[in-house]
Amino acid sequence: GKGIAVFTSGGDSQGMNAAVRAVVRMGIYLGCKVYFIKEGYQGMVDGGKYIVEANWSSVSSIIHKGGTVIGSARCMDFKERAGRLKAAKNLVDRGITNLVVIGGDGSLTGADLFRQEWSSLLEELVATKKITVDQQQKYRTLQIAGLVGSIDNDFCGTDMTIGTDSALHRIIEACDAIVSTAYSHQRTFIMEVMGRHCGYLAIVAALTSEADYVFVPESPPPDDWQKRLCDKLEQERQMGQRLNIIIVAEGAIDRNGDAITAEMIKKVVVDNLQQDTRITVLGHVQRGGNPSAFDRILGCRMGAEAVMALVEADENTEPCIISLDGNQAVRVPLMDCVKRTKAVAQAMADKKFELAVELRGKS
Ligand code: ATP
Repeated sequence: GKGIAVFTSGGDSQGMNAAVRAVVRMGIYLGCKVYFIKEGYQGMVDGGKYIVEANWSSVSSIIHKGGTVIGSARCMDFKERAGRLKAAKNLVDRGITNLVVIGGDGSLTGADLFRQEWSSLLEELVATKKITVDQQQKYRTLQIAGLVGSIDNDFCGTDMTIGTDSALHRIIEACDAIVSTAYSHQRTFIMEVMGRHCGYLAIVAALTSEADYVFVPESPPPDDWQKRLCDKLEQERQMGQRLNIIIVAEGAIDRNGDAITAEMIKKVVVDNLQQDTRITVLGHVQRGGNPSAFDRILGCRMGAEAVMALVEADENTEPCIISLDGNQAVRVPLMDCVKRTKAVAQAMADKKFELAVELRGKS
């Protein structure tokens, strides 16, 4: 059977464990040898104890756990060819020519680069006598299947990334808690949620908590947002509301591309309306805790599909990511999605906000 390795890379998210579990079990079921690579690309570069064979029971009792039990890391070594050369040697030594990478766009971009370089890396390993010509021949192609693990839902090409739904569970629990205390004291609360380039968490949080105002990166407010905000808050109070809720994504910006922070919003509210105003920054609570049923199932389905994609692949198969399209797990070309995700980031950097929303909408 084929040698498959699974690893998690970049920021963690709830549901990664469900995906790891499904990769291991589907792999074993289909007769593959499955390995964990611990601590992301760093483990691949360092090898040794970081690359271990998995068995059926090594993924028992992890589906309900948040984070990633096999560890994740950011790895500078893998960004250099020397690091990738070491990683290639470690994989060839174990007969691993298939990778399931679970991470964000950076991790997936790294995997694609690694695959493009693979034959030249093996060439160099043969030339320096680190591997044999037989090994070079036998392991000449590297196959990649990617799963997008990210709480931000910031990746083009899939309806939902693994972890987003669980993060929303954390956020709405916190919003509900804040609403009850805000009501008692007639306060205004500004809740900062994660999302550096993508306002998905903020938008859904705002819709599901009856917020009065929301600030997101890809749709900056009109230049007179301070007045609009104050008018809206005042109108709500005049209609008898005892509280106001404002949701701000951590990457919120104005039309000049300058940050709109919770502190700035608070100052506007206090200076103009003299409301008792507090800030709550949810922070890493959002990426912690147990995965929701949705993320567990999403991880399971995507992990299983990734293994099937690798088992069916031949030398001409392009790297794919497993995407959720409607209610189906489907394979889509990896680099198309990475390119589109980068195009959204570029459109925002260029302050072409309508274009960014349009590009994201096509995902
Ligand atoms: P997150 O959504 O949490 O940011 P990510 O996968 O985008 O997840 P990154 O920190 O961008 O997170 O990437 C994770 C790791 O992937 C990096 O530390 C590095 O080892 C590898 N990587 C990223 N980009 C590249 C690249 N262009 N070439 C090689 N490796 C890369």
